[in-house]
Amino acid sequence: MQAWLCHELKLQFTIVELVTRLFQCVHVFEHFKCTCVLTLDKGEDKKKQASMNDSIILDLATDASETTKDYLITTLRDKLNGHKRQKIIALCAREMELTLPQSIETIISTDNIDLCFKAKSLMDADNITDFVLVTSLMMKKYWETVFLHMFSHVHNWSIRGVDVPNQPSGLVRPEVDSVESSIKNYFKTVGNPDEVKILRSALIPSDKFNAGFHERYGGVSQLPPIASLNTIYTMRKPDSQLAINENRRRLGQAAGFDPEQLKVARVEHGKSIWVVGKTPPAYYDGIVTNMPGITIAAPGADCSMILLADTVTGACGAVHAGWRGTTLGAVRACLKAMVDEYQTNPKDVVAAIGPTVDGKCFDLPAVDASPVHELDPSFTWPSESNIDWVHADLVKANVKMLELDGVPSSNIDTSNAYCTVCNKQFFSHRRDGIPFGNQIGFISYKA
Ligand SMILES: [Zn+2]
Repeated sequence: MQAWLCHELKLQFTIVELVTRLFQCVHVFEHFKCTCVLTLDKGEDKKKQASMNDSIILDLATDASETTKDYLITTLRDKLNGHKRQKIIALCAREMELTLPQSIETIISTDNIDLCFKAKSLMDADNITDFVLVTSLMMKKYWETVFLHMFSHVHNWSIRGVDVPNQPSGLVRPEVDSVESSIKNYFKTVGNPDEVKILRSALIPSDKFNAGFHERYGGVSQLPPIASLNTIYTMRKPDSQLAINENRRRLGQAAGFDPEQLKVARVEHGKSIWVVGKTPPAYYDGIVTNMPGITIAAPGADCSMILLADTVTGACGAVHAGWRGTTLGAVRACLKAMVDEYQTNPKDVVAAIGPTVDGKCFDLPAVDASPVHELDPSFTWPSESNIDWVHADLVKANVKMLELDGVPSSNIDTSNAYCTVCNKQFFSHRRDGIPFGNQIGFISYKA
């Protein structure tokens, strides 16, 4: 045992040593690179310096004094030292001529938020998430506040506040407290909210329920795969919470619900259901309620969004079901929650299934799809790409489960179950990769 342990420790030591050596090699390389890249502040983050792909935003707008502009431009020109950056963007309050050893994209606006949003749009277009803002020390705090509200967790940004010598006195930093509301108001002016399109089910009675799904247009999200009406915030998307809030506000406006009263499932590809009014589980793929005015919703981007409406009691449910949720019976769990909580009779339930990846555009290991196959062998068929894989029709599987649990076939509407991969007006994880946007299916009881 001891010998084995010694051997194991020795092996571990050797691996540690190897990794350390490798790290040293990398470090030397990084150090070599560091000497070539922009270093404006003392004590700045070494990791940021090490990246040759950092893009640079040069603030020549907020402190419009010639002293500051000249100093920033000179400093940047010296420090670039012939080394290309992925992108250099200059923020300007007015037209100006810039001569730097790399092509610069210039944005002109007298609105700082507009400048920041347009810089973000330029970077989103090239999927750039790593960048540094070069500004005067006085403006650092202001831009930090703007960036915190404009960018998200996927962005790796830093701000170099340059201590400009002989800066003119009397310069005033813009208000930091009003930044959040300025961005909120700015977002209202982005894009065209009239493009927001709602898909309704003719089967869900509109006098009792406000229910539907949405297409992807009319929002403020800029990165192509998530543009533009992405209604879900996650750590992997370059949308700030304020951008998502604006998208939800537009959706609420188009659909006629209060976005402040919107409850969206926190999905984990399981079958937990949250009964509104009770303590929510950490994650839940479905929500049920009978409270008027509360809009419940489930997200999708290939996965099914299924809405359930009890036309007698007014109870309703929204559930997310991808292949995992479908094989676990998430829709059955959602219907059962309505039966248990609100004495719903499944015969009174109307169901609508939203945009979902079609079986033809989706395959998975046959072993994972076996619950779908067991519902009806015709719901799965062999995949051309892999002998152990099958295509699976998630829509038919969910319809079948609802029927088995007592919902009449004539009450189940699949007319909005467009294939998300084939129809570009919807977000699709399979088609767009990561990051991808999300649509939601929503329902509320009008009472
Ligand atoms: Zn398709």
